Amino acid sequence: MRVISEVEEWRSFTDAQRAAGRRVGLVPTMGALHAGHSSLFEAAKNRGDVVIATSFVNPRQFEDHDDLARYPHTPENDRSVAEAHGVDCLVEPTLSAMWPAYPDPTPTTVSVRGLSDVFEGVARPGHFDGVASVVAKLLIVTGPCRVYFGEKDFQQLAVIRQMVHDLSFGVEVVGCAIVRDADGLALSSRNVRLSEDARRRALALSRAIARVAQAPATASEHRHDLRATLESADADVVYAEVVDPVTFTPSSDTDSGDARALVAALVDGVRLIDNGPVLLKGEQ
Ligand code: AMP
Repeated sequence: MRVISEVEEWRSFTDAQRAAGRRVGLVPTMGALHAGHSSLFEAAKNRGDVVIATSFVNPRQFEDHDDLARYPHTPENDRSVAEAHGVDCLVEPTLSAMWPAYPDPTPTTVSVRGLSDVFEGVARPGHFDGVASVVAKLLIVTGPCRVYFGEKDFQQLAVIRQMVHDLSFGVEVVGCAIVRDADGLALSSRNVRLSEDARRRALALSRAIARVAQAPATASEHRHDLRATLESADADVVYAEVVDPVTFTPSSDTDSGDARALVAALVDGVRLIDNGPVLLKGEQ
């Protein structure tokens, strides 16, 4: 596995892959790799791509400096996880390569209005501008055929799909299923912050998502069910919603068909998210 940190070397590596007729698949990450990330590497490998993974903790998507300072760093483990799961090239770009002006603000920002301003965007103003800006740069430098994201961050996936569509990036956005621990908890780099008790209570998120997936109901019934499950575990609910999976507009009780359940909650001060499909049975 090749490890690169300089933009020009990274660009020429992917140029050479394309020139040799290979398809490049990009998997953006912030490091601290776990089985959720590995599933994306494997999805890219299974499609036959030359797999480029990036590991960059993007400060522009952290509005909370403590959160950024506490973000886990496991670079040695990341290299062995990436190599073991088929990554051909791991890019660990330097902060100055990505954002030369940092810590001053970078004048250029990509902003996906609307989708960025709801749910995760309410609690984290500017977060999705940081995400869209960094992913735009990763796509421009890498020039992949496909880019892989986890459904774990369902709103992020929607923001990226919208950006790729609006700016004609000419890349296929592949969404990959959420990887969970055996007990259902969605894998996340932040799970290491949970105490034993908090981790047990955190299972309310995946339980809530699994419950509403079982049977069709109205949007209000699903919302009520989500919230009740979270509150029964003393989780501090940030939101428990049912939305259109593309526009993120909250579903109404007359809507039928496929929708998405979204939950966010604080468990012992650790902010967790989860989501999953639901079926709506609209009232006539
Ligand atoms: P992150 O390093 O947290 O920015 O995540 C990098 C990519 O891995 C994103 O596309 C995430 O959605 C994805 N990811 C993180 N956790 C999981 C998971 N449990 N299952 C599937 N994908 C995940």
